[in-house]
Amino acid sequence: MVRREQDRHTFYAGKPQPSADSPGTFKTINPSTAEPVCTIHTSSPRAIDAAVQSAQSAFPSWSATPPVERARVLQRAVALLRQRNDELARVETLDTGKPFSETSAVDIVTGADVLEYFANLVAGGGLNGEAFRLRPSAMVYTTKEPLGVCAGIGAWNYPIQIALWKSAPCLAAGNCMVYKPSEYTPMHAQYLASIYREAGLPEGVFNVVYGAGEVGGQLTAHPAIAKVSFTGQVSTGKKVAGAAAGGMKYVTMELGGKSPVIVLPDADVDQAADGALLANFYSTGQVCTNGTRVFVPRHMKQNFEKAVLSKIQHVRAGDLFDAATNFGPLSSKPHYDKVVSYVRRGIEQDKATLLCGGVSQPSGLPSGLKNGYWIEPTVFTDCTDDMTIVKEEIFGPVMSILYYDAVDEAVRRANATELGLAAGVFGKDINECHRVISQLEAGITWINTWGESPAEMAVGGWKSSGVGVENGRRGLEAWVRNKSTLVEMGGEVPTVFSKL
Ligand code: NDP
Repeated sequence: MVRREQDRHTFYAGKPQPSADSPGTFKTINPSTAEPVCTIHTSSPRAIDAAVQSAQSAFPSWSATPPVERARVLQRAVALLRQRNDELARVETLDTGKPFSETSAVDIVTGADVLEYFANLVAGGGLNGEAFRLRPSAMVYTTKEPLGVCAGIGAWNYPIQIALWKSAPCLAAGNCMVYKPSEYTPMHAQYLASIYREAGLPEGVFNVVYGAGEVGGQLTAHPAIAKVSFTGQVSTGKKVAGAAAGGMKYVTMELGGKSPVIVLPDADVDQAADGALLANFYSTGQVCTNGTRVFVPRHMKQNFEKAVLSKIQHVRAGDLFDAATNFGPLSSKPHYDKVVSYVRRGIEQDKATLLCGGVSQPSGLPSGLKNGYWIEPTVFTDCTDDMTIVKEEIFGPVMSILYYDAVDEAVRRANATELGLAAGVFGKDINECHRVISQLEAGITWINTWGESPAEMAVGGWKSSGVGVENGRRGLEAWVRNKSTLVEMGGEVPTVFSKL
């Protein structure tokens, strides 16, 4: 049963702030049915400024709170997130169209894990600096200082997870945040803001603004913002990083990919096909690290395609709250149109061989779902490097199989892209797997698996896929600045100007 969601308003000073100056409203849509779920009030420039001011007011006290006390608040939020896992997963399912079997097992769990990780890290000395003796009479010590008020701007594919991956290290390090969710999947943000408050986070430490790109643009340009942590497309990331550079702001950019999977000649065909399916159809292919270019040794063609066709029968579309459903619709109408146009392009212009799928809806969908943004899982084979579907990020359930004759050729072709988010290899000879991985130009790599991204593992793209990392110890460093202090204990200041 669909519960009525309250309207969403800019959240600052600890609560939602309805206001007459909102420039308008928009609806979030359940992608499985195309029905509206919730009304969102766009934040006005005044409301954005008020949210930033609220964060500025909260910063002196929050940044001065000892890390171990900040950690206690964040740990209480972790407990609330875990307690309300299914309620939050329901919201994510309605907003994104991802099956409940997925959101209830992954989206909140992986967000809460990261919050727990950073709370533990700062409580355990993760923000400690270093001290060393420079010479007998002098020492140097360093401190890690929070940056101030930071902006988090999220994509629509992992809404609450992205909000947590950004706010967890940000708040743990003593910063305050103004967060803008994607206009397509904004519902989680108020739940998260309320959970933080309930856990004891002081008002103003976490704030939410709503709207499309121009709201993100205003937030990025605000002079009081010290850092922008952005997740989204490469083209938007370039705009956001450019705007941030004008104010010399810190940035973290988590952007798109067109990641390669290399199946080595000795790989287990079944295991590699399982990996390729996971890398292409999980979350209906709407995962930034998707391995959409699958390089397969030519001699394996028949067996690999047979395995893919057999396993793809287990991709099940249907009612999102049915435990057997593991494949949802695309998350919005504009995104559906984009993915469909790529599939058409693959068939009509690229002339790729369609192994299965296409632009129709998956068969057997219940009648209530026919208006949703559904498309079949699609596999193109015998693809070539110059095809548009092979070169551009589609961000949907579209796999391209490319055949190769020599491993070094596969590596060269895999690297021949401006993007460098993720990469993986499947093979039995682990030395060869390491050798190949070491040559792949990507920031997130896997051997004989795909997609797992635990809190301890720093992740971030190379080349045009991003700047900086999230998670792991290095993920905390992205939210602090260094202060080095040299202490002279010899009692004398260099006498350059006092003696002639
Ligand atoms: P977009 O780049 O379209 O949007 C991302 C966010 O930026 C949204 O909140 C958007 O607002 C906002 N935005 C748009 N224009 C501006 C602007 N000028 N200034 C500031 N903010 C702006 O990305 P998508 O939402 O379509 O997300 C999909 C992309 O995200 C894919 O490329 C995917 O690979 C990437 N991604 C990368 C991840 C990583 O970790 N590397 C993880 C997840 C996704 P609105 O949408 O409301 O208009």
